[in-house]
Amino acid sequence: MHRRFEDRVAVVTGAGSGIGAATARRLSAEGASVVVVDLAGDAARHVAAALPGPALAVQADVSREEDTEAYLASAVDRFGRVDLHHLNAGVIGTFDRLPDIAIEDFDRVVAVNLRGVFLGVRGAFRRYAAQGSGGAIVITASIASLRGSHDLLPYESSKHGVLGVMRGAAMYGGPQGVRVNAVAPGLVPTGLFAGSGGVSGAGDDLARRGATVPQRRTGTPEEVAAAVTYLLSDDASYVNGEVLSVDGGSAWV
Ligand code: NAD
Repeated sequence: MHRRFEDRVAVVTGAGSGIGAATARRLSAEGASVVVVDLAGDAARHVAAALPGPALAVQADVSREEDTEAYLASAVDRFGRVDLHHLNAGVIGTFDRLPDIAIEDFDRVVAVNLRGVFLGVRGAFRRYAAQGSGGAIVITASIASLRGSHDLLPYESSKHGVLGVMRGAAMYGGPQGVRVNAVAPGLVPTGLFAGSGGVSGAGDDLARRGATVPQRRTGTPEEVAAAVTYLLSDDASYVNGEVLSVDGGSAWV
């Protein structure tokens, strides 16, 4: 495989499963040293242990400022620097009609998905400044960043919000050699849907929804990881402030 990330150090949040784990594997296969960050410490250790290159697992809650500082400090302790960030950790919350949404659910979803991304972006910029380097950041947004649905308002609010963080950071980062972009996945069967009370993690419900996608199927974590690693790589050296949909055409139907 082409090794676009030789001598680069990458942090991937939410890398204990799904899209983040696939990005960690792709970055590692292409030469990066990878810091696998997840709230689920065992999952992070499991993914890190299976990577082909240098790896470090860190248990952290991305919604907490001190955890964000701690995973960056661990990365620097181990690898000396950080070049690339995939800010990907997220939760879906519960599928509720608008009048039934609990404030606690709204706050938790926004804390992980939006505040967590803000903390990750701010931490990345502080790290680049300390290193005197540029870098690249990719945020996992969603098809839910681009339109609404009838039962996922906290998730959609948080995912619309991350595009604001991405665009502001891209403007700020441009002159400093820091590119900030987002991917907007469509439906990808992962652990995200477990326990959400809506789309079930596997089986009929996802297959039925997949059949409505123009490409007539759901996506894979690897297909999203391919877009993330493109945006993190020098192949995207003049791409900044962009949202790349990876959704089989869903965004426009
Ligand atoms: P996933 O549940 O398989 O992976 C998410 C990971 O994030 C899990 O390992 C989880 O432990 C971790 N996590 C959750 N809260 C955390 C926290 N506070 N701190 C650190 N880690 C935390 O799901 P996925 O589908 O791979 O989701 C990855 C990202 O992709 C999410 O941001 C999600 O919103 C986004 N996304 C997913 C889909 C999809 O259909 N699967 C579509 C669009 C966007």
